[in-house]
Amino acid sequence: MSYEPTSLKIRASSFGQFFDCSYAWEGKYLLGIGGAAGLRALLGTGVHAGTAAFDSARLANNPISPDDAAGVFVDALNHPEFDVDFSNDNLSIKEAERIGLTLTTKYCTEIAPQFNYVAVEMKLEPLVIDCGGCINITLTGTMDRARVAETHDGTIIPDVKTGSRVVVNGEASIKARSAQTGTYQLMYEHTTQERTAGAQIIGLGTTSKTPIAVSPVFDARRVLIGTDEAPGLIQLAADMFRAGLFPPNPQSYLCSKAYCPRWNLCIYHE
Ligand code: SF4
Repeated sequence: MSYEPTSLKIRASSFGQFFDCSYAWEGKYLLGIGGAAGLRALLGTGVHAGTAAFDSARLANNPISPDDAAGVFVDALNHPEFDVDFSNDNLSIKEAERIGLTLTTKYCTEIAPQFNYVAVEMKLEPLVIDCGGCINITLTGTMDRARVAETHDGTIIPDVKTGSRVVVNGEASIKARSAQTGTYQLMYEHTTQERTAGAQIIGLGTTSKTPIAVSPVFDARRVLIGTDEAPGLIQLAADMFRAGLFPPNPQSYLCSKAYCPRWNLCIYHE
């Protein structure tokens, strides 16, 4: 397995994972190491499909009901577009359906009305990062699972997250979210030439209690571009690509057989 490191196209929606565990990211996106996802990943995909359908329909002035959005969720749950290992998670399909239906309905009735969305999963103009040494990487793709919203303070990027740890003690966790949301902020600005006011996490918790929460607005852009004292993640990524260094992170929340395709080949986890 190998890849040509001089000119790489990278999905913008994967850039957050790059900074979570670079070794896993390299395996999945550069070396093409695949593996069946677990039922929890499928549950998240289904909820994202239902909520995106609801928001897209509203934006197109052709709204659908929360029930319709729930139908999109059920369809996605029952017709996965990727391999799923149903033995990978401690979750039954019946419970996954109950959780997903509840979250989709809560999102449509309690969260979506709070926002004035102007785009859903927007297509982004490619952004080239010059890594030096004749190496460049191009971030491309769409703002997967994220929205663009107008507020009194300007344009913000709300990013919808599902998972068992996205809502902690009733609050949407922004821990380790800046790499992804900052990438979206920067690429939105590159695409539209308009400044963003920040990002937000919309947390849809996939535990049995189905907690939901919206984080305060935070500026993730600074983390990407850095300060006078500290290099930004873009600079660090360029250095890592130029050096061909993709360090493992066994402390990652996603370091498990259910979520990491490199698990069976990786010597760094417990
Ligand atoms: S098993 Fe853990 S440390 Fe190894 S690549 Fe996957 S996430 Fe990273």
